Amino acid sequence: MAKKSVAALDPHAKTVLVRVDFNVPQDDSGAITDDRRIRMALPTIRSIIDRGGKAVLMSHLGRPAGKGFEQAYSLAPVATRLGDLLGIPVALASDTGGADAHAKAAALPAGGVLVLENVRFNKGEKKGDDASYVDGLARLADAYVNDAFGTCHRTEASMHAVPVAMKKLGKPAVVGFLVEKEIQYLSDAIARPKRPFVAILGGKKVSDKIAVITNLLSICDRVLIGGAMAYTFVLAQGGKTGTSLVEPDKVELAKELLAKGGDKLVLPVDTHCADAFSATANKLVVKAGQIPDGFEGLDVGPETARIYADIIRAAGTVVWNGPMGVFELPPFDAGTKAVADAVAEATAKGAVTIIGGGDSAAAVEQLGYADRVSHVSTGGGASLEMLEGKAFDTVAVLDDA
Ligand code: AMP
Repeated sequence: MAKKSVAALDPHAKTVLVRVDFNVPQDDSGAITDDRRIRMALPTIRSIIDRGGKAVLMSHLGRPAGKGFEQAYSLAPVATRLGDLLGIPVALASDTGGADAHAKAAALPAGGVLVLENVRFNKGEKKGDDASYVDGLARLADAYVNDAFGTCHRTEASMHAVPVAMKKLGKPAVVGFLVEKEIQYLSDAIARPKRPFVAILGGKKVSDKIAVITNLLSICDRVLIGGAMAYTFVLAQGGKTGTSLVEPDKVELAKELLAKGGDKLVLPVDTHCADAFSATANKLVVKAGQIPDGFEGLDVGPETARIYADIIRAAGTVVWNGPMGVFELPPFDAGTKAVADAVAEATAKGAVTIIGGGDSAAAVEQLGYADRVSHVSTGGGASLEMLEGKAFDTVAVLDDA
């Protein structure tokens, strides 16, 4: 069911509470190292303030203890960066839905922006069982917008109890532009894919991606496997994996997936391995399943990269989650690079290409391909759950279109 969009909301002279995901990475000094999540929320914020509304933003940042203010998790640097990006001063409240938030929200001019302090400073945020916390937020504004895609798989209070409470008070609760766009790519494009529909799955563990592999095997034409998770499949086929990262307790499951997948499930034919986890270690390219003792698989081999790239270039839709190898440590970024390059080529030829959040998004950004694909998701866990075919309660609760 389509949800009512922030575009259909009349924010003029209204206070609009927007749940965003400003959980940005920071270095040891607190400086923001990647502000993509802030930039991706700008269309929703601008749409509210440009139409004379007052935007009150709330988010979590990191994992504070839930026992009040902690400097290390303050949203102050985020408010400053947001002000720079918007080119207007952005106010910061010292609490989330308390006295300071109410005073600062009441003082906001039309077109003004206020950031509330970290929702996770409140113990009621995670548990959702603190009625006065939820009530404080519900009474703060005239309407609610969910634009926090990266948190949509978590029914924490600001994501679920607050919009429920606001709806009870007769206030609209709608979806923001970022969440709309993410759902459009991760759900609609996958429900009606241009074929061939190719999924690429990599990363560390099979155990993290069982549900995704199972769901994608039922809807894709090809599922290409890379990363360390490939070695558990190799074990299932009786191959040698040396000191590679494997999950022996998932071998039976890998056998089931191999049987279910048949020709659809494509495994690496060669492996780039090394005798230590270092760029200067002794390196070898071997056939899959023939990793010598003392060597560890760190990337797919060149023949696999070539085969995968050919399949990807011919695709109509591509979904990619998880790197092909240890992309952080050249030369073991070669497989991931070859795949990224093929995905960019497929995009240029008209394919719809979607990169899941988390490490795949980081790899695509780091390798310089982010602008050459259709969509890079802002949510790691959330995009995985969508690829598993799950729907979000935090979106279901919003007003229907
Ligand atoms: P995930 O979070 O499961 O998507 O895993 C991403 C991580 O998997 C990245 O940090 C990669 O360095 C790592 N990775 C990918 N391939 C391998 C491999 N062959 N051996 C060890 N780690 C790997």
